Amino acid sequence: MLLQDLCATPIPPGFSLPEEVFIHPGAGDRLGEVASRYLNPPLLVLSDENTRKAALGPMEKFSRAFSGQWREMVLSGHAHTDDPTIAEVMTEGGGIGGILAVGSGTINDIAKAAATRLGVPYLALGTAASMNGYASGIVAVTSNGLKTTLAATPPRAILLDTEILCAAPLALTQAGLGDLLSKPVSLADWWLSHQVEGAAYSELPGRIVSEAIDSILAEAAGIPARSPSALETLARAVVLSGVSMVVAGSSSPASGGEHLISHLWDMRALAAGRPLRLHGAQVGVATLITSALYQRVLSIRSPEFVPPRLWEAEAERIGAEHGPLAATVLPEAEQKHRLAAKRLEFLRREWAGIRERLVSFGIPSPDRLRKPLLEAGAPHTLAELGVSREEARQTLLNARDIRNRYTLLDLAYELGVLPDSADEVLEESGV
Ligand SMILES: [Zn+2]
Repeated sequence: MLLQDLCATPIPPGFSLPEEVFIHPGAGDRLGEVASRYLNPPLLVLSDENTRKAALGPMEKFSRAFSGQWREMVLSGHAHTDDPTIAEVMTEGGGIGGILAVGSGTINDIAKAAATRLGVPYLALGTAASMNGYASGIVAVTSNGLKTTLAATPPRAILLDTEILCAAPLALTQAGLGDLLSKPVSLADWWLSHQVEGAAYSELPGRIVSEAIDSILAEAAGIPARSPSALETLARAVVLSGVSMVVAGSSSPASGGEHLISHLWDMRALAAGRPLRLHGAQVGVATLITSALYQRVLSIRSPEFVPPRLWEAEAERIGAEHGPLAATVLPEAEQKHRLAAKRLEFLRREWAGIRERLVSFGIPSPDRLRKPLLEAGAPHTLAELGVSREEARQTLLNARDIRNRYTLLDLAYELGVLPDSADEVLEESGV
């Protein structure tokens, strides 16, 4: 089906988006036919040891259709989206006409980055509805220890076979729901950065994805039952969330302060040589925290604004708080700090109106957001993630440093809610 058929809101022409999306039982069997429409052989098929097994049926049919015209690269199940891995795939992909990504988050990101750099098209055969990056125009990559995003070209087509999605490990599907849970909070953050720092903003990305996300939140109980209908709804929502980022021109509609918390957890895990947890599982729990923080911030009618500290003092704090990651974090934090005085002046003047508009976003309470996580059996506590209370406190206080993107985490400092109320916020979030 055409991408437009996934949502009622018209998607304006002119965006770099997948032309076709197949979400149905048996969609994987169309792999050969769809690949021949969009990719010129020879092809590189990229998967990992787990996703390759998940897509055995479709791959068998594909290999018959493309006999002798493809080669394969199977990464380890622990591969990360980082510069060395992308470079390895690009070397393997020398002289190819296109890439076929068989996998979910990591494989899709690596294939998208490599295809963009090689200047060839790619297709995504998704093996789990575990994140919203299939259709997006960005790749989340770790570069010198910093989690950042790169612009990249979306796939020409996406195939999400609901039979494969139903068979995927439940934790992956639950993570997909967690990644989408952030939408109401991240949309508010996006509007906030538009107001305070003039970031480009439009209501269209939110409209494109809203109905699909509301549907899967209402159907969350179907996730542990592996209901094909719930998986189809989830698949539609993760694709449209990716589309919303393309239409926005950035990840902002789907990535606010809760994503910064999740990214900092990843950065610290990588720096310590620990395995990464599922992105969406972290985002779900982090969204409960930022939801609680929003409730606090929006309860303040007459704030006592806290003037920005001198950059030297901030740099010293960052050195102490981020340890080995401080050098990669400092440039982002410094850029953000440059506008701190101007921001505060604006906030002082406009707080009443900003507060009122943020209230009108109707950001759900932690309890309301927890409900679909509970119904889906998805992680909703720090303990389930293996994050200690102290680590969560540290991350809540320092995640704002890692990206030059204004979010609630910055606002909370400027209104004096953080750092002092961090413990209360964690308590109120119920994580
Ligand atoms: Zn995400």
